[in-house]
Amino acid sequence: MPQILIIEDEPEMIMGLKDNFLYEGYEVLTAENGVEGIEKALTHSPDLVLLDIMLPQKSGFDVCRELKSKNPDMPIIMLTARGQEIDKVLGLELGADDYITKPFSVRELLARVKAVLRRTAGHRNTDNHQYVLEDFTFDFKHYQARKGSRQIEFTHKEYQMLKYFVQHKGEILSRYQILDDVWGYEATPTTRTVDNHILKLRQKIEPDPAKPKYILTVHGIGYKFIG
Ligand code: CA
Repeated sequence: MPQILIIEDEPEMIMGLKDNFLYEGYEVLTAENGVEGIEKALTHSPDLVLLDIMLPQKSGFDVCRELKSKNPDMPIIMLTARGQEIDKVLGLELGADDYITKPFSVRELLARVKAVLRRTAGHRNTDNHQYVLEDFTFDFKHYQARKGSRQIEFTHKEYQMLKYFVQHKGEILSRYQILDDVWGYEATPTTRTVDNHILKLRQKIEPDPAKPKYILTVHGIGYKFIG
């Protein structure tokens, strides 16, 4: 069944929504603020995000912008307050797939959710969840990797980097770009961090880490993944 992430700070609203979606057979994740919401969205890749606009720490707009920049295919329905016409416009400009005005009926929300899921089903690249690199198989949805039949351990950040490389296969990526896109809002020391992570990734996936064939160095700029 589809997995829904509800990002909403009002406990009663969360409870009500959660119950209804569970009843309809959806898998439900919840987050009570924008930061937690972004983290869960990127970790679990839910099939759809229900996103409230008025949130503590990070507004729904910021969350929408950030999620769409990292994963443009992730469907988002914004929850707006009545009369906030500007919210709808801004939300849609930021890439939200639909919006619904509070207060809404559960029936209407479920219908909107189903419509967005139908509309986006064909566009979502489910292949993104799995990636095969010679004898490696990466499962980005469940954060698992196998080499042949052997399970290989990668850190969360290593998975994020790998997924990012797969999404940008063949592109020259600067260290700053990688820092921005993979580390984002997290406190980041220096571009040296990127280099260190690349080093570790190479040790795990390259047949000869000293002569990389998948993650190439582009001198003076950054890296390029060819897999
Ligand atoms: Ca709210």
